[in-house]
Amino acid sequence: MPSAQPALQSIASDPRACPACPVCGSTNVQIRFADCRDLLFPTPGEFRVAACTACDALFCDPQITPEQFDTYYLASYYPTAEQIRARLRTKRFTRWALRRFWGAARRDTAARAALRRVLSLLSVRLRMAPPLHGAGRLLEIGCSSGEKLFILRDYGWRAEGIEPSADAHAEAEKLGLPARHCSLEDANLEHGAYDVIELTHVLEHLIDPIGGLSKLRDALAPDGKILLTLPNGRGVGLKAFGRYWQGLDLPRHCVVYTPTALRALCSRVGLEVRQVRNLVAPEVIIGSAKFALNALRADAHGPAEPNGADRCGSRYQPDRKLKNLAGRLARKAIAVALLPTALLGRGEVMHIEIGRADNA
Ligand SMILES: [Zn+2]
Repeated sequence: MPSAQPALQSIASDPRACPACPVCGSTNVQIRFADCRDLLFPTPGEFRVAACTACDALFCDPQITPEQFDTYYLASYYPTAEQIRARLRTKRFTRWALRRFWGAARRDTAARAALRRVLSLLSVRLRMAPPLHGAGRLLEIGCSSGEKLFILRDYGWRAEGIEPSADAHAEAEKLGLPARHCSLEDANLEHGAYDVIELTHVLEHLIDPIGGLSKLRDALAPDGKILLTLPNGRGVGLKAFGRYWQGLDLPRHCVVYTPTALRALCSRVGLEVRQVRNLVAPEVIIGSAKFALNALRADAHGPAEPNGADRCGSRYQPDRKLKNLAGRLARKAIAVALLPTALLGRGEVMHIEIGRADNA
């Protein structure tokens, strides 16, 4: 197995100095992994992973710039409208059941919330189900090709989205969805308008998380909430797979957060973390194992070009092999085995609810 966990190296001894932590501004950072490349696509550049000792965030160095967006976000990073239609067809029963029992028009109850929490640990579908908040206005930041937007509207939400990728936005338009083609930085958001703002695997991609979250705080309705789903920098995957952990996704993931780092970020912009749930993500474990195996093979036979096929099980590019029964059972078995990690706050993925600090 390639060495996944090199000893921490002080930034002071490294000739290439790191910038300040994009979350807390501290320059007290250490190099966690050096000489990293994009493991998903054959893109240029070498990157390092730096760890901020002040706020616990991990971040990519150098950070990619908005001008490099098209270089690192290839069209195959996103599903096509046809793939989404096919997936929605296969989920007809699930969609009916969710609309009937979990849809936006129904109020949450303690029992329903507890059941949802247990089931969402085991099921990606339930994890991706719309939040229970009553029908309202919802904004999805980074709506990709619009799959979740489609489902949320199906459940009664007045849902709209913004998406910086022209390729993904074009697919969302094919589905007839109200998605705007713009980045969060350029978006003109109505002040105090949204009951829910969702960022599903998006916050870690933001080059300027302070500016981005500040803008979202202003766009929230007075009792609105921001819902985040993102990789957990405290999860077992980083410890087990190190630089091959899929949650790093260099260089597209600018910052990988832990609960501590997220609280630090929120405190800088007048928001507060209200709830942190840990989820298991067997697809991340399988994807990370593939990255590590690819590195082993490269050590033995020379490097192979990454081709995007290792993003298995994600919402973007599900591995067809995992669609068979054996694959699904394997994923469930991994999910059950990982349940204790989620209960101990070491799950691969975090689901986080944030509100305005002045509404506490
Ligand atoms: Zn920091």
